[in-house]
Amino acid sequence: MLRRVAGESTGQTEGQVPVPNSVSALWRSGRLLVGLLVMVSALAVAAPTTAQTSLASIDDYPDVVDARVSTTAERARLIIDLTGPTEFAIATLRDPDRIAIDVKAFETKILAPADVAGDGIIKSFDVSMAERGRARTLLELNVPAQVQQAYMLDAVADQPARLVVDFILDTPENFTSRAAADLAASLANQGAPPPTPPTDPGTHGTVPEGRPLVVLDPGHGGIDNGASAPNGVHEKNITLTFALQLQKVLVDSGRFDVALTREDDTYLTLNERVDLARRNRANLFISLHADSFQDTAIRGASVYTRDENATDILDKVLADGENRYDIVAGFAVPQSPPEVMDILVDLMRREMRKSSFLAAEALIHQLEPSVAMRRFPLRQADFFVLQAPDVPSLLVELGFLSNGGDIANLQQSEWRDRVVDALARGVADYFDKLQAEMVAE
Ligand SMILES: [Zn+2]
Repeated sequence: MLRRVAGESTGQTEGQVPVPNSVSALWRSGRLLVGLLVMVSALAVAAPTTAQTSLASIDDYPDVVDARVSTTAERARLIIDLTGPTEFAIATLRDPDRIAIDVKAFETKILAPADVAGDGIIKSFDVSMAERGRARTLLELNVPAQVQQAYMLDAVADQPARLVVDFILDTPENFTSRAAADLAASLANQGAPPPTPPTDPGTHGTVPEGRPLVVLDPGHGGIDNGASAPNGVHEKNITLTFALQLQKVLVDSGRFDVALTREDDTYLTLNERVDLARRNRANLFISLHADSFQDTAIRGASVYTRDENATDILDKVLADGENRYDIVAGFAVPQSPPEVMDILVDLMRREMRKSSFLAAEALIHQLEPSVAMRRFPLRQADFFVLQAPDVPSLLVELGFLSNGGDIANLQQSEWRDRVVDALARGVADYFDKLQAEMVAE
């Protein structure tokens, strides 16, 4: 779980970043009763619940193995079988009327769910992965309904762990207002701007309302040492030291919230790093490295943005209609018509490239007077870790562990202080410029 460290002028506070960008981003592990629902929506804004320790990483999430629904005219029950207990979130959706039950899950083994048993409240249902780590059971309703109670059961004897959700009838008014509340809570939880008419895309942008969230990604970790210097120093330790120090400087400025993809010697896949930045709706993602190079004469710092000719994963992500809405959630009212959505997606894609480039320029501008840079320090490459379509992303090569001069610098605290301060100034300049551009538009 990504830990967000908040920048405040007086002292520092720490808190959990809201969990995934589902329609309702509030994960529950205990029992949820009707009547708590409104309070739950309010809580989602103020104090998102924290994940259970057993679900620390997506690899720990259980699989969904089965799901079944039975219904009558007045009541219905959904049972989801899982390979272990998990957390869940519930959201009410309109047009058509649906209730979404999201569970943290590694994958779903259900190819085609069985038909609904009986006739009544629930018309049909489907189970699919809404995104990595989140399985969604979507129930289409015949009449307005609400969740009466929902609870997890641990595995007992030959019974697997189960999520049980009971439904009862609801009035159309209640249903509509709950759907609106869920949407508002979800937007607030994501730190997205309040909905504005989609006819004016120019007013949407990447400047956040509160403190921007900067996600720092110390390269490598755990079994992956990264590059190693002849004296045995590993890249993974250098990148972590830099990241922790940069986090402190940025937080102390009072202007930023900062989270690290790892805070210790942990192994993370590249996918997980990108995923953490995206799920937490980072405003800037900086991956830190000190790799080695075949040519040992090559030295100096450089900053990479993503190669524009690289295959764009956005197209792949967009194949799934729901993810498409998740991606543009910070940009548009989720109910925008498809043609408006296309325009906004295109706008977002261009904005992210522009923002990444702007950030890279700002960092280099601050680094250049302080440290030795590589020739042509602003570079493009198809780094996997830079592929988030909705987060401005950079990779900073601090120096090369294949060069003697760089090895000495990278381990020297005075040099590190200079680089960290320059990077922090660059980050601040970037957000200043972004703000100025927004005002100018
Ligand atoms: Zn590296």
